Amino acid sequence: MPEIPVEAIANYRPRRILVTGGAGFIGSLLTRRLLDAGHEVLVVDNFYSGTRGNIEDLQGEPRFELMRHDVTFPLYVEVDEIYHLACPASPVFYQRDPVQTTKTCVHGSINMLGLAKRTGAKILLASTSEVYGDPAMHPQEESYWGNVNPIGIRSCYDEGKRCAETLFFDYFRQHQLRIKVARIFNTYGPRMAADDGRVVSNFIVQALTGQPLTVFGDGQQTRSFCYVDDIVEGMIRLMNSPDDVTGPINLGNPGEFTMLELAKKVTALVDGPDIEYRPLPADDPSRRKPDIAKAVQLLGWEPTVALDEGLDHTVAYFREHLASALG
Ligand code: NAD
Ligand code: UDP
Repeated sequence: MPEIPVEAIANYRPRRILVTGGAGFIGSLLTRRLLDAGHEVLVVDNFYSGTRGNIEDLQGEPRFELMRHDVTFPLYVEVDEIYHLACPASPVFYQRDPVQTTKTCVHGSINMLGLAKRTGAKILLASTSEVYGDPAMHPQEESYWGNVNPIGIRSCYDEGKRCAETLFFDYFRQHQLRIKVARIFNTYGPRMAADDGRVVSNFIVQALTGQPLTVFGDGQQTRSFCYVDDIVEGMIRLMNSPDDVTGPINLGNPGEFTMLELAKKVTALVDGPDIEYRPLPADDPSRRKPDIAKAVQLLGWEPTVALDEGLDHTVAYFREHLASALG
């Protein structure tokens, strides 16, 4: 057995951690990491876009607990840390009930911040690159205030997350809460929902089921795709950083690809499919790429999984799970 250094034992303190949205794509993988590190984890989720299947493997763990709850209502539990992820993340899901999306971002954050205030817990917000909107600055640094349409079909999510960030910083200034704000860029990997409409899962599912890949617009818009394990690592490092590191901090992979380049990568892994062009949805950002200098400097974090390798893992996951995922 490998020897554990004495200091590590002395500093080790299992914590009671709340993960809101823990039945979702990122939240369920984060929960697994936190349980493996010896913590107690309470997952709170209303299953709006997450599934029981995502947390099936956690159900037998003695330090794992699940509570079905909507964060737009107050929550009374005792915890040391809160990872606040509850919110649908894909345009298809967050646009299905936009009023609920705004409520989740705003009321949900107020409730979780209130919980952090009462318990003295440290709280991390899973914010998003969408706060930059259709960015006029490239790549996007945290100091950029963004270019967001306040009344469009993406606004429930973009403005909702911007307001959540405002609330986090007002609770920090007004009530001295220990806050952490992560601005997460497009994340992909095993456990994405097959039907959530995001481009990576769409292309892979389409390719594996012999349908044409649906490229929106001319396919020249760009995104930077980060493998989910890298994002989870970044979030944990941010939570464990010194209290004066509040963020906002970009977490994402600076590799930038057009949607046509992504489509080519997927067709290289799964032979056959054609491309079908569809209209570009309203307010679809034209370019997106994180500047991650702050994360590198303050967290010692940078992505380790290149897009080709991550796509390989994701295609393998969908090959295995597609039949059950599509029900
Ligand atoms: P997801 O949809 O898979 O997970 C979100 C989870 O939140 C789901 O389990 C859902 O049921 C739950 N939820 C939604 N509304 C809720 C409510 N009112 N009360 C309780 N639970 C609720 O999405 P994800 O990709 O895992 O994203 C997790 C977080 O990370 C989100 O906050 C999202 O905004 C943020 N984020 C994700 C990405 C990405 O590319 N995946 C990028 C930027 C930011
Ligand atoms: N997209 C696409 N085909 C699809 C789904 C999405 O071309 O089947 C495009 C979409 O227009 C956007 C990019 O892929 O430009 C990323 O979309 P996604 O919904 O994954 O994330 P977001 O727009 O929120 O970054």
